[in-house]
Amino acid sequence: MTPTIHPTLAADKWGRARALSCALDEGFEPLMVQVMGLPNLNGMSHNFHMALGALGLVKPFDWMKWDVPALTKEMVPTLDDDTAWRHVTRVVRSERFFEGNFDAHIRNGSLTALLRHLYILRCTENGRPLNFPMFSDGSVEPGLRLVGFSQGTIGHTTGRHEVCAQPDCSRWSVELEVHNGLRQYWCSDNWHYVQGAEELFILQSWSHRKSRRTRPTRK
Ligand SMILES: [Zn+2]
Repeated sequence: MTPTIHPTLAADKWGRARALSCALDEGFEPLMVQVMGLPNLNGMSHNFHMALGALGLVKPFDWMKWDVPALTKEMVPTLDDDTAWRHVTRVVRSERFFEGNFDAHIRNGSLTALLRHLYILRCTENGRPLNFPMFSDGSVEPGLRLVGFSQGTIGHTTGRHEVCAQPDCSRWSVELEVHNGLRQYWCSDNWHYVQGAEELFILQSWSHRKSRRTRPTRK
């Protein structure tokens, strides 16, 4: 179930890591209902591991003496940059001593959420991706292409943007015109802008659907 990541998106370090974080979350949740054993994360977990390293989020420090509670998904929104990369480093480094620790933090959604949180801390300002072209009057560049994993170009930006209307989200949402002429706002949670290509790439299939969906429980 290794996802196909568009080569342009895969060549962008944050784009690759964000795409993998979304794919791991989406690929994992439907498998939760499996009765027998834990789902197999296959090579995606390894690729995510590599992507975290490529971003320089695994750095030397004395993590064994770092006495803070284990990373949980719930604490992620409260973490500052310094604490966040230390958590990444501790999860990655401790795998050597506690086998399965890395995958466990993917299964509980904490590490993937932490990567996306770090992206917001480092690469956005007031919800706007910092590399996104904006004119002095506050409008965005029209005509930037929205690209899907395999569908090719799906639509383009109209120049309008708004604050995302979803609850608990204050990120940028840009208006896109898709091929049938329909216009809709897409939250920047769901796409990644690659500057050199001047294209937005879709990261996940359903806008905010995951965050509102409750995890299936077995009775
Ligand atoms: Zn949003």
